[in-house]
Amino acid sequence: MKKLIIVVFALLTTVIIQAQTQVIAHRGFWDTPGSAQNSIASLVKADSIGCYGAEFDVRLTKDNQLVVNHDSSFKGRFMEKTNVSRLTKLSLSNGETLPTLQEYLARARELNIRLILELKKHGSDKRETQAIEQIVAMVREMGLEKRMEYITFSLHATQEFIRLAPAGTPVYNLDGKLSPRELKEMGCAGPDYHYSVFKKHPEWIQECHDLGMKVNAWTVNKKEDMQWLISQKADFITTDNPVLLQEIIK
Ligand code: MG
Repeated sequence: MKKLIIVVFALLTTVIIQAQTQVIAHRGFWDTPGSAQNSIASLVKADSIGCYGAEFDVRLTKDNQLVVNHDSSFKGRFMEKTNVSRLTKLSLSNGETLPTLQEYLARARELNIRLILELKKHGSDKRETQAIEQIVAMVREMGLEKRMEYITFSLHATQEFIRLAPAGTPVYNLDGKLSPRELKEMGCAGPDYHYSVFKKHPEWIQECHDLGMKVNAWTVNKKEDMQWLISQKADFITTDNPVLLQEIIK
């Protein structure tokens, strides 16, 4: 009996240590009927297929409101130079109107999926700090603090998320330039880099794990790249094809 307990314990420990690679739907699960990139439908669909997280992009409008959209301009309107009332009249390809962050998070409250919020680069550091202050306040009010992870290319925004979000909130940098040690010293949860960076520095994955950090790679859509990252024990893969990635992990 004692022997059996030891074996079971050893097996459980192995399972915990060799945690599976988790799937993050890039801009939500958008490549499926009725969905669109960064739409509320893409969030709901990513949740419905059991993704770990839905990634989405956030921008601050001219009148300092937060909206969910990838590009600096959409249908000819520059996000930072247009008021929210105009932007939210624009339709996404699935017929939804462009969502505010408030609307997006309100729907997320009814789901379980983790929320991988990317703050895009803005015209100034000041605007990025303003966006982050508003994001952190909104998330707190909506009771979503424990489900958030923040990602950004901007070094300033990375530092500001670490400063302003509750301690322990995962913050990842996307830019691909900082070494694992530099990320650790900054207080990042780890790198969320283009997968080509890890192909160039495969040792960074183990280095991150040794430093107690996690590794995410974007945007991985080819089977062989997914398989390589899984074999290297990447913690997360961000993909436009979450269904394919789920099949490979299985
Ligand atoms: Mg993004």
